Amino acid sequence: MLIVGLTGGIASGKTTVSTMFHEAGIPIIDADVISREVVEPGTTVLEKIKLTFGPQIIKNGVLDRQQLGDTVFGNEANLSQLNAIIQPAISNAIQDKLAFWRTQKAPIVILDVPLLVERGYHENDSVDQIIVVTVSEATQLARLKARNQLDDYAANNRIKSQLPLSEKVKVADYVIDNNGTLAATREQVAQVIAKLKEIAPEYAGK
Ligand code: ATP
Repeated sequence: MLIVGLTGGIASGKTTVSTMFHEAGIPIIDADVISREVVEPGTTVLEKIKLTFGPQIIKNGVLDRQQLGDTVFGNEANLSQLNAIIQPAISNAIQDKLAFWRTQKAPIVILDVPLLVERGYHENDSVDQIIVVTVSEATQLARLKARNQLDDYAANNRIKSQLPLSEKVKVADYVIDNNGTLAATREQVAQVIAKLKEIAPEYAGK
């Protein structure tokens, strides 16, 4: 099975592009969805978070993300403790989903990981190929402001907290330029799918 990492920057169009892959019949594993699933009520991960950071981190049985954010934001020790709890659970869940798609004999799977480069997925064997969805800084700012109702300052802060898109593009096997219309992006997705289908047989059985 060919495992293709999909990444980009905030509001660069990852969700838009992954929906296009889904519509073309290619399975998507979404790391954002998984990161919410692993802390659902009753999970061992939620229990570990409670033991580590205190019971106030849970409200009505549910993880209080605001509290957790306040606890780890700007506190390196707390952040690395949280990552040590959460990241192995996310990796395991991803492996489970990959195993499922192998049983389904899917030739290609898209692994949508917003922080793929930040987490070093490009440096190990986590993915076989990488797609980066890119936009200009101006487009990124405009779309982020419009979608999240942010002013220039807040939107810029969010963009600056991530690795620049120009750095992510360097590790890409395929770059999808999402500055244009949705139709233009869909056309590029179709081209990438054609290339992936060409190489997928090399990964059959893996
Ligand atoms: P995040 O990581 O922040 O969740 P994302 O990378 O998944 O974002 P999307 O949610 O797909 O990005 O796109 C960001 C915003 O830009 C959305 O409001 C989306 O509708 C819009 N958008 C995406 N692509 C285009 C396009 N080609 N033309 C116009 N608007 C677009």
